[in-house]
Amino acid sequence: RVKQRRGGDVRFYQPQMNIDRLARMKLDHAMRRALPQGRFSLHYQPQLDLRSGALVGAEALCRWHDTELGMVSPGHFIPVAEETGFIAELGDWVLREAVAQAVRWQAQGLRLPVSVNVSVLQFQQPGFVQRVAEVLAHAGLEARWLELELTESILADDLTQVQGQLQALAELGVTLSIDDFGTGYASLSYVRHLSIHRLKIDRSFIQHLPGDAGDAAIARTIVDLALALGLRVIAEGVETEAQHAHLAGIGCHDFQGFLCSPAVPAAQFEALARGRLAAPADPGTRRIA
Ligand code: C2E
Ligand code: MG
Ligand code: MG
Ligand code: MG
Repeated sequence: RVKQRRGGDVRFYQPQMNIDRLARMKLDHAMRRALPQGRFSLHYQPQLDLRSGALVGAEALCRWHDTELGMVSPGHFIPVAEETGFIAELGDWVLREAVAQAVRWQAQGLRLPVSVNVSVLQFQQPGFVQRVAEVLAHAGLEARWLELELTESILADDLTQVQGQLQALAELGVTLSIDDFGTGYASLSYVRHLSIHRLKIDRSFIQHLPGDAGDAAIARTIVDLALALGLRVIAEGVETEAQHAHLAGIGCHDFQGFLCSPAVPAAQFEALARGRLAAPADPGTRRIA
């Protein structure tokens, strides 16, 4: 039985892929118009310690409410933005906006790390590390409050260069995680050689827990790998108490998912955060040297 996995799904040629070319161009045009019009925003999804339920972070997720198209899902527009190159511009906006939000939260006493998704193309932009440093300095945010989520697809490039860039980001003090872990084609051994701090287990492996023995084995393997390497590990897409209990049982550190909350606007996140913040809220305690 072949299951659909995000990022690594089995694909068959579909005739609508040709029509999609025009649709993509239109969408790209609409995005480029929408960004300066302020039609993009960020929602934040809480990340919690599995055992204590303490809030340990917020993942910034991009939302687009277009004047004509209505709500467009990131699952739809992010791949298009990646193909057309617009993601470089959009990603830079997301980075600035999320960092600005983290600064506003710090000022309100809501001191927690904010995670930002970085696409391959953005990561490959010349001067990306410098750009991250610049954005942090300009906003006045300490690097340890920023986490960058990267996918295994960054590893398709020259590994030595990728490793150097990750190291430079880690030296800046930024936390680095591998998103959708397990869906890529890269071999597991590479994680050992990268300057990363956290693995995010993809939702596709969480979805069928605890019943599916195969997924349970994969989830346990990822957690064990993380623990063996001294990395922090978080499960994404946790929706049920049963999944939560299973993950606690295998020693997973953190989780995010509808069981706690979907991604919500900043104001709603603040309401939800009240009383849930880990004390002391120091990402340094989550970070592994
Ligand atoms: P991701 O980074 O793996 O984010 C997790 C996705 O799962 C989010 O979808 C989130 O809303 C959704 N999710 C969280 N908990 C649950 C759950 O319990 N059940 C289910 N069914 N879904 C859950 P979203 O917001 O639609 O984003 C989809 C993807 O788009 C993200 O996957 C990420 O790859 C990309 N994306 C979103 N915002 C950005 C961005 O600012 N920059 C880049 N480069 N990519 C982004
Ligand atoms: Mg993510
Ligand atoms: Mg993810
Ligand atoms: Mg995912």
